[in-house]
Amino acid sequence: MSIKALKGFKDILPDEVGLWQFIEQTARDIFHRYGFEEIKVPILEKTELFVRTIGDSTDIVEKEMYTFLDRNGSSITMRPEGTASVIRSYIENGLYVRGSVQRLYTIGPMFRHERPQKGRLRQFHQMSVEVLGSNSAKIDTEVVAMAWQILQEIGLQASLEINSLGCAACRPSFKEALQGFLQERFQHLCEDCKRRSNINPLRVLDCKSENCQAQYVSAPSILKYLCGACSDHFEEVKQTLSLVDVPYAVNAKMVRGLDYYTRTTFELITSELGAQGAIGAGGRYDGLVRQLGGPDVPGIGFAMGMERLVMLLSQKDQVEIRPALDLFLVTLGEAATEKGFVLLQALRSQGLRAMMDQEGRSLKNQMKQADKQNAKFALILGEHELANREVALKDMRSGEQELIEFTAAIEDWADVIKTKIKQQLK
Ligand code: ATP
Ligand code: MG
Repeated sequence: MSIKALKGFKDILPDEVGLWQFIEQTARDIFHRYGFEEIKVPILEKTELFVRTIGDSTDIVEKEMYTFLDRNGSSITMRPEGTASVIRSYIENGLYVRGSVQRLYTIGPMFRHERPQKGRLRQFHQMSVEVLGSNSAKIDTEVVAMAWQILQEIGLQASLEINSLGCAACRPSFKEALQGFLQERFQHLCEDCKRRSNINPLRVLDCKSENCQAQYVSAPSILKYLCGACSDHFEEVKQTLSLVDVPYAVNAKMVRGLDYYTRTTFELITSELGAQGAIGAGGRYDGLVRQLGGPDVPGIGFAMGMERLVMLLSQKDQVEIRPALDLFLVTLGEAATEKGFVLLQALRSQGLRAMMDQEGRSLKNQMKQADKQNAKFALILGEHELANREVALKDMRSGEQELIEFTAAIEDWADVIKTKIKQQLK
């Protein structure tokens, strides 16, 4: 019996990896354009880190974490998201001494024990960013605009919803008003919401039950409870988003699934993935760094789910993103094959994507491989070419062929071939 992958864990196969690379490269490029630097953090952390940051009455901590005892009996967890680990690292390594504002991004796998379905896996991948050390509303706008730009440049449509969750000064009065509202309708709420109405009332607004949502239509709006400072901050975020043409809608019921958020929160949503419509989300977490024992610096970040981006892109019929070979070297006869083998290395050193057959296959078969590999050119070196000190460069699309003479040094020869290829590709 063959061994299968774990439920909710998926291979990313060579045929789809081109899309992954395209998305990741586009995002990295945009992160760098916005002055972000990469940070790589471990996949395992002490369980306590996530319990203290994400919040112990959230779905993630209550039922989704991969937590286990390691061989020393200490409780460790496979990271369910990136923010907690990045902040842990920021504090532990004193990254704040590099400058008062740190712009960081990280890309990698996350783990949540959820019910696997379309767009929902147990190992999934996020690209996430954090800005630590700035209170400016324009930083919120930069971060949201950057997320928006990623979707634009990879060619996806989504809608952007924003909200403000207030701060430690103003949220308690909203919490109280909401709790009062929930008490009046207590018997109509689902079991989860009943439980949450006491321990974490804001989270009820995120409930997926239609019944509950029907009740919450008339719930108090957090935006009416914001203090002056939070209200000004939110106004500036909205104004500056408009200034740079990022279209948004305010959704006062968006609360996000993690406890650490303050002030601005946002979500990027698509209607094309059914229930798994959230492709990215984030917000401010101004008290979190201090809460974890670091300096009292504000923060903001977001995470985008790679699987959902890949799914959306593959639903669109656009050209396959697959790295094509520049050339396939076709050789015939022992001497030419040996010469070709050395040339192949020189071509790769020149930066060309090049392959040759190593199984001693026939000329016809080698040409077939060139075709199958989607090579742009075939470079043919047979006994006849070897004797004439030349090699034939065949354009696989037009079928046109050109002879290129040997030069004394093989590096120069490879360089001439590269130049010819680049010219013809123009
Ligand atoms: P959802 O409402 O879909 O459960 P979430 O609020 O739990 O999303 P976040 O924790 O904010 O999501 O993570 C940010 C992004 O990571 C999501 O918008 C989504 O694209 C992706 N994501 C989250 N959980 C999963 C998962 N189990 N499988 C695939 N992608 C996921
Ligand atoms: Mg979730």
